[in-house]
Amino acid sequence: MKVQTWIAEEIVTPEPTTFELVRCPACTQVHFVNRSSGKLLGDKS
Ligand SMILES: [Zn+2]
Repeated sequence: MKVQTWIAEEIVTPEPTTFELVRCPACTQVHFVNRSSGKLLGDKS
């Protein structure tokens, strides 16, 4: 299973009003999700 393994240093601090922290069940880490688009921050696929 392919999972995204972002580390904290790769995540640009988002606007708290625009992004939401969610815990990912796939990799048990937390990700930022864009509230407006529903996409994960940094997801380029
Ligand atoms: Zn994840």
